[in-house]
Amino acid sequence: MFAEVVFALPFRKSFTYEIPSELKKFVKEGVRVVAPFGKRTLTGFVIQVTKTTNVKESIKPIREVLDDDPIFNKTNLKFYEWLSEYYLCSLGEALKLLVPHGTEVESKRKIAIDKNYIVQLLQREQKKNTLRYKILSELSTREQITFASLQKAVGKKNIYSQIRALVEEGAVSVIEEIEGAKVKPKKLKYVRLSKDVKEIYSSLPELDRKSPKQVKLLLILIEAKGKSLPVAELLHKTETSKAALDSLAKKGFVEIFEKEVDRRYKEHYEEQHQEFILTEQQKKVLEEITPKIQQSVFQTYLLHGVTGSGKTQVYIELAKIALEQNKSVLILVPEISLTPQITSRFYNNFGELVTVLHSRMSAGERFDSWRRIHKGKSRIVVGARSALFAPLNDPGIIVVDEEHDAGYKQQDMIPKYNARDSAVVFGSIHNCPVVLGSATPSVESRYNAEIGKYKLLTLPLRIDNATLPKITLVNINAERKKRRMDNIFSRTLLDKIEDRLNKKEGVIILQNRRGFSTQIFCEDCGEIEMCSNCSVPMVFHINKNTIQCHYCGLEKSVPAVCSNCGSINIKYFGTGTERVEDELQFYFPQANISRIDSDSITKKSYLSNLLLSFGKGEIDILVGTQMVSKGLDFSRVTLVGVISAETTLWLPDFRADERTFQLLIQVAGRAGRSKIAGEVIIQTQNEKHFALQKVLQNDYEGFYKREIEDRERMAYPPFTRLVLIETKDKSDMKAKGAAIDFRKALKKYEKHLKISEPTTALIYKLKGFYRYHILIKSSRKTDPSGKLLRKAILEAFSEFNRLSRYRDVKLFYDIDPQSIM
Ligand code: ADP
Ligand code: ZN
Ligand code: ZN
Repeated sequence: MFAEVVFALPFRKSFTYEIPSELKKFVKEGVRVVAPFGKRTLTGFVIQVTKTTNVKESIKPIREVLDDDPIFNKTNLKFYEWLSEYYLCSLGEALKLLVPHGTEVESKRKIAIDKNYIVQLLQREQKKNTLRYKILSELSTREQITFASLQKAVGKKNIYSQIRALVEEGAVSVIEEIEGAKVKPKKLKYVRLSKDVKEIYSSLPELDRKSPKQVKLLLILIEAKGKSLPVAELLHKTETSKAALDSLAKKGFVEIFEKEVDRRYKEHYEEQHQEFILTEQQKKVLEEITPKIQQSVFQTYLLHGVTGSGKTQVYIELAKIALEQNKSVLILVPEISLTPQITSRFYNNFGELVTVLHSRMSAGERFDSWRRIHKGKSRIVVGARSALFAPLNDPGIIVVDEEHDAGYKQQDMIPKYNARDSAVVFGSIHNCPVVLGSATPSVESRYNAEIGKYKLLTLPLRIDNATLPKITLVNINAERKKRRMDNIFSRTLLDKIEDRLNKKEGVIILQNRRGFSTQIFCEDCGEIEMCSNCSVPMVFHINKNTIQCHYCGLEKSVPAVCSNCGSINIKYFGTGTERVEDELQFYFPQANISRIDSDSITKKSYLSNLLLSFGKGEIDILVGTQMVSKGLDFSRVTLVGVISAETTLWLPDFRADERTFQLLIQVAGRAGRSKIAGEVIIQTQNEKHFALQKVLQNDYEGFYKREIEDRERMAYPPFTRLVLIETKDKSDMKAKGAAIDFRKALKKYEKHLKISEPTTALIYKLKGFYRYHILIKSSRKTDPSGKLLRKAILEAFSEFNRLSRYRDVKLFYDIDPQSIM
C-alpha cells in the first residue's frame, strides 16, 4: 500500500510513500503522518491511499501516524484544494491552517559541539573579526545549537562552509534530531479512595496517633463522596506533603492516577442572560434562512442591519435551528478578544456547547478547543478569522459578523486568505447557508447583493424604537478662527462631555492612532524622526517615555536633539490616544478615564474588566482607537466624540473613503442604543468630503451608489480582481531587480491583464527590507473566475525562476489585497 502525502512546503505536488505493514491499519486519507523528506523528517498530510504506484524511484516508508481519526474528509479536502488554487499556495500550506499550532513533529538539524576542542580552536584564532571567530566563540558556550540560532547569533546566513570545515576538523558534528509536538494534552495527578469508607473509618484511630496529616487527607476524600480530587490542590488545601499521600497509597487507602484535563479559555466579562420576544424584522430574517438550514441548501445572505438592530440575537436564533438539526455552527467575528459581549451572549444561551478560538488563547487552550470541536463535543465555534479552519462536523450555518472588517484578511502569512470570501466557498462546498452581517457592508458584498449573487436581508430599525444618534460635523479650522478650539478639542465637544459627566452617562472618544504624538519634527532642518528599519515616522509614547515604530516595534529613548542637524528645536505633531487621554484628564480632573488600544490591552483580562466597569458606570469616558468602534453595546453611552476624521481619510488606498465611512458609522452606532437618545460629534477639516457628508446624513445607500460608480470608473474591485506582487530584500538593488524581472515575465499577458510597472512600495522599507510592488488588475468581464490571472502569475513565476538572477529574492502574491501599502 502507498500513501500520497503533501507537506506544508511550497511544492505544488504530492509525494509517494510506502505504508509499512505495522501501520496499515492507521494510515488513512485525512491523517497526518511523519515521514522522511530529503535529509529531514516532516509532518505531512495523507491525501490518498493506493494499492499500486507508478513511481519508479526508491520509495521511502512512512515512520509514524499522528492522528487516530482523520482530521479531514473528501469534502473538507475540496475546500483546501480551492484555497490552494485561489490563493496560489501549495495544498500542504493550505492544510496546515487546519491543525493547531505546535502539534507537528519535525526534525531539526543541529550542530553537536565538542566544547573543549572548540575552545582550543578559538584560542588559536589570531584575527577577531572573522566569521570563523564569531562562530567559534558562539559555539564555545554550548553543547548544541540549531543552524537557525547560530545564523541569528552571528548575523550571517551563509555559515555552511565554515561548519563543513569544522566537521572535517572533528570539532562538531551535524545531527538530525526529531522534535515532538510542543503542545500535548494536559494530564494531572488525581487521587481517590480505594478502600471501603467503613474500613477506612475503623483504621482512623490508629492512624491518628502516628500521622494525623494522613487522617486529614482521608477525611477530605471521604467528604468528596467517591469523587477524585486533583493531588496538587488537595495538598495545597491541607498543607500536607506529597509523602503523606504516597504513604496512604502504599497502605492501599488511596489510589493516585493521571487524568486528562480540559483547558478552557474563560472570559471575565459576563452578562445577565436575557430572553427576548423577537421583533417582526428579526422574524422575517429567520423565516428566510431557517429552511435553508433545515434542507442543507447553500445560499449567501448579506444581512444589512443598522447598529443596534439586534443582529447578534438573529445569529443566536440561527444557531438554535442548526443545533435542532444536529448540525454545528460557526460564528466568525473580527479579532474576538475585542468582543467579549458576543461570546458572553453565546455562553448564556448554549453553555458548554460553545467554544472560542482566537489568538489570545494559549496554545494548550487552543489545542483542547480544537479537539473538542473535532470530537463533536463543542458544536458552536465563536472565533476570529482562523476559526474558519476549525474541524467542524456537518456545519449548518456560518455567520461572518462585521463582514466589512479588514481583519478578515490574513496579511502576514501564506496563504494570504480572506476569511469572509473563503467562508462563502466553504458554505457552498458543505451545502450550508452563509450569513454576512454588517451595519456598513463592504462595497464588494453590497455589489454582490445587487447582482443577485448574495441575497440582501435588512434590519432597518433599532431595537426598542431607539433612534439612530444625531450626528454633527465640527469644522476644526472654522472653530479655531472663532477661538473655539482648546488644543485638540472643540468647545462644542468639551461642553457636551461635561454635560454627560454631570448626568452620569457614558462617553466614548475615538482617535484612530495610538501613542502620544505621531510625528517628531525638527523646526530648523525639517527632518522627521524616522524608524531606521522602516520608512515610517517614529511615534512618541508618553507613558513609557520612548519613541516607537508601529511597524517593526523598534523602541528608542526620546531624542534630545534633531538626529540630522543637532538642533534642539524639536516639535511634536499628530495626536494619538495617549494625548487625548492626557488632555481629557486635564479638562475633567474628576472623571474616570480609560484607554483601549493595543498598547493598553496587553493583559488577558484587562479588556473584560474594563468593559464590566464601563457598563456599571465606574468608568465615565472610554478613549480608544478603532477598537472602541467594534460591537460595544452599552445602553448608558449617549455621546461619541471623534477627535479627527482624518486618520483614515487620506490613506493612500482606494478603500480610504470606504474605511472612513465604516469607521465613523460604526463608532457613531455605539451611542443612543436605548431610550435616551445619542449624539455624535465628529471633528474634521474636511466637512465637505462626500464620505463625511454621507455619514452626516446616515446614508449608506447614497455612499454605496457614489462609491460603486467610482470603482467602476477607476477599474477597482468589485469590477476587477487585484493581485499585488511584492518583492523584498535587504538589498534595494536585488528587490528592484527581481521586480523588474518578474514584470518582464508577465509581459506576454499584457493583452488580457492591466499590469503596473514595478514601483517602490508606499512603505518602501519595512523591518529592514526594501519592497517593490507590481499591481495587476484583471477584469471580471473577461476573466470572471480569475483563472487567467492565476495562470499568468504561476507561469511568470516559473519563467522568473528559470531566468532571473534575482530568483532568491523573496516574492509574495497577495490575491484580493485589502491594502496596497
Ligand atoms: P447589533 O449587533 O445589530 O448592533 P445587538 O445584537 O447588539 O445589535 O442588539 C442591540 C441590543 O438589543 C442588545 O442589547 C440586545 O440584547 C437587544 N435585543 C436584541 N433583540 C432583541 C429583542 N427582540 N427584543 C429586545 N431586545 C433585543
Ligand atoms: Zn534638524
Ligand atoms: Zn520600524
